[in-house]
Amino acid sequence: MAVAQNIRCSHCGAPVEFKPGELIATCKYCGFTTVIETGAPFNFEHSLLLNKFDQNQADTLIRDWMRSGFMKPGDLAKKSKILEKNLVYLPFWVVSVEAKTTYKGVFERITPPIVKDGKIEKEYNWLVLAREAAGFPAREYDVPLEGKIPFDFRKIEGFAKVLNSEITRDEALFFAKQQIEALHRFLLKQEVDKIVEVYTDINVKQAVYLHAPVWFVKYKYKGQAYQLILDGAAGMAIKGDIPSSKF
Ligand SMILES: [Zn+2]
Repeated sequence: MAVAQNIRCSHCGAPVEFKPGELIATCKYCGFTTVIETGAPFNFEHSLLLNKFDQNQADTLIRDWMRSGFMKPGDLAKKSKILEKNLVYLPFWVVSVEAKTTYKGVFERITPPIVKDGKIEKEYNWLVLAREAAGFPAREYDVPLEGKIPFDFRKIEGFAKVLNSEITRDEALFFAKQQIEALHRFLLKQEVDKIVEVYTDINVKQAVYLHAPVWFVKYKYKGQAYQLILDGAAGMAIKGDIPSSKF
């Protein structure tokens, strides 16, 4: 844990703690958020999703997940041992945008081919993970945004870990735009076979910095370790390794 020489929380005066690579840090004493590079207060919206499960309820969620679905071994819930269970508040940027792609292309699936033009217009709350968290599937995480409240460190459990952002707001906007453009290009392939012209205009309405509760679980079944990731706000499995039921 590094402590920036000259950075103190401008709200409570405590030294701002952060790890190498982190660019935005939240004070663990008062919940105030600081931009590390400048030492200035973070002026944009900072939100929090609440975790709804205590340690015991998380165990129930894990066992329920193990019992559900026909792909899993029948004795998975009974024979598994939970090795680790960590509640982590992961940092995200939620970028609200209106995206409009205008295109011109050739539709070659009919004879003779025709020139087509058109528009793809969509609105997104695009999620950008603010960490290099290995193995977290941000695209598969349907973040339950309805429940978000202003960030409040008093609502964070003492045993939980809060991770800081490793990317700036501008970088998050850049990644969101890049990913949306790529998605629209993918969608275009259903409309035309050859793209002649394409232009995507992205209007950013808002970018919210958000901490969301995620349970990282490690369990052991028949001598092997597996991982399960649960959404602490909605109780859903985000990703889970399932042992092969062949054994
Ligand atoms: Zn503080």
